[in-house]
Amino acid sequence: MTTYAETIAAGLNGHGHLLGIEGLRADQISYLLNLADGYVDQNRAVKKTTDLLSGRTVINLFFENSTRTLTSFELAAKRLGADVINMLVASSSIKKGETLIDTAMTLNAMHPDVMVVRHSDSGAVKLLSEKVNGSVINAGDGSHEHPTQALLDALTIRRRKGDLYGLRVAICGDIAHSRVARSNIHLLNTMGAEVRLIAPPTLLPAAVERMGVETFHNMKEGLEGCDIVMMLRLQLERMQGSFVPSIREYFRYFGLDQEKLAMAKPDALVMHPGPMNRGVEIDSELADDLDRSLIRTQVEMGVAVRMACLHALTQGTLNEEPAA
Ligand code: ASP
Repeated sequence: MTTYAETIAAGLNGHGHLLGIEGLRADQISYLLNLADGYVDQNRAVKKTTDLLSGRTVINLFFENSTRTLTSFELAAKRLGADVINMLVASSSIKKGETLIDTAMTLNAMHPDVMVVRHSDSGAVKLLSEKVNGSVINAGDGSHEHPTQALLDALTIRRRKGDLYGLRVAICGDIAHSRVARSNIHLLNTMGAEVRLIAPPTLLPAAVERMGVETFHNMKEGLEGCDIVMMLRLQLERMQGSFVPSIREYFRYFGLDQEKLAMAKPDALVMHPGPMNRGVEIDSELADDLDRSLIRTQVEMGVAVRMACLHALTQGTLNEEPAA
């Protein structure tokens, strides 16, 4: 059986895929972030497009709803000069396994160079990557991984704090159902940050003790001395049954407000992958506080990071071994 790391190293026909952060080396992560830094500058210029992907086709195949990720990938591919097609497939109206592969094979016959895929089942994107000829980027599979989100979070942090190494980062809220949390844990551990998870016991994943993190059930204790506070959305669509007593109570104990944030370092910064539930996991004013909140910067970094990922996969530069 191929592991994620092997799949990243060499997909079908030698194309690289980006299926997760798990398995990426620190030098590969740094390479992508350095590349993305250059694209931030390009995106701020008047002329935002290049022709690196001219003549290439990118298909965004989304089986789950998305606004920012889909737009971000579309813009990223267009800014690199690719032809882009968006395919939105309502997963509730189809028989899953069969349609996923059928759809993939149909699209594969049109010779896309890259397929960007989001699906509600963990592992679905990897399955698809084994059947198609081009590169595949995971744009979120169930509660498993969302690698470009973790990369854009890392870029956002690195540009503000200089380095990820040694930072204390708290990831708070619905960790059990969050692909964002999983990808961020892998990335932050690989880059030498200290990761804390803060959540009620019902919202922590089963194998949390094997994740190389410290866990807390109390926000004020967990936030002590943190440099970065990442808030997560309650993933109600992935919950079967009740995981929190009430939204009001959840906000009281686990929602981020100025009072709880005061336990973190004075220059601590707040992040959220979006979409935000204001007043549920984060206080609305704090989310908009430009001195503390990086939420809008995260969206900006998303386009640059996705350009870097498209660049690296299509040019085959992600898999190069580091210099000895
Ligand atoms: N947008 C992120 C995701 O697709 C976070 C979220 O939906 O809460 O996982």
